Amino acid sequence: MNTLQFDIQISEVGPRDGLQSVVRTMPTEDKKRWIAALHAAGLQEIEVTSFVPPKLMPQLADAAEIVAHALTLPDLQVVALVPNLKGAEAAMKACVHKITIPCSASEAHSKANVRKTREQMVDEVRNVVALRNEIAPTMMIEAGISVAFGCTLQGIVPEDGVMSLMEALLEAGADETGMADTTGMANPAQVRRMYRRAIAAYGLDKVNSAHMHNTRGLGLANCLAAYEEGIRTFDSSLAGLGGCPHAPGASGNVVTEDLVFMFESMGLKTGIDLTKLIAAREPLKAGLPGEPLYGMTAEAGLPLGFKSL
Ligand code: ZN
Repeated sequence: MNTLQFDIQISEVGPRDGLQSVVRTMPTEDKKRWIAALHAAGLQEIEVTSFVPPKLMPQLADAAEIVAHALTLPDLQVVALVPNLKGAEAAMKACVHKITIPCSASEAHSKANVRKTREQMVDEVRNVVALRNEIAPTMMIEAGISVAFGCTLQGIVPEDGVMSLMEALLEAGADETGMADTTGMANPAQVRRMYRRAIAAYGLDKVNSAHMHNTRGLGLANCLAAYEEGIRTFDSSLAGLGGCPHAPGASGNVVTEDLVFMFESMGLKTGIDLTKLIAAREPLKAGLPGEPLYGMTAEAGLPLGFKSL
């Protein structure tokens, strides 16, 4: 869907992807302050939480309260991750604007992550779409393809399988899809080739986002490769917080500050004020004292003469 307000849309996933991979729980009030600071920096879309059973992920047990808070922030697109129909129903009741459902391209990862086969996940998406049509018709549904570029459990993930899963998810009624390098195994040539193929087959209104990890230092290069194929929405995490609990060693989403710096310095507008974005690390630090924070831009500071916005 190309109705973006700026050249690039950054979808901040730290409050979900980041917090789920940290064992400690950030206090609810700190989460609210952090999300408000991200919004104040200009982020237009934030994945604020995940509707998963609290016994599996106690860090996100306050999902409904966090969504209620995020909905008070003007013009913010509030996104939540849901692994199944039950989570989707809770997200719909909480009135999120969009849900994202992770669907693994690798059978091994699918079973480890959501205890379902790929085929069962397609059926789950179909059921979520039916429920959405009934009780929350304006809510968007994104099916994100996890481990699209490689899997720590299975190794190589065949590209044909990624494309057929994408086709099945769109046929099941997902409004849009994107590919995720959950395990940080992608390289720019592969990203370019797979986005080119997916966009040619399904169009940019259906394939429109990229979720890259920086596990092996290629996060920004992979985002740039996807950009050059036409992608304009990118997931990233403030200070690189986050990873995947079922992808050992996969620490760190692309760092939001560095991604914004790359695009803004290229003359592309993100709508984000980098100084305020870097300041949004303070409530994160306050809520999770001592947690390692990543990113070059915050370390080095903005170059002399650099203008954000
Ligand atoms: Zn991630």
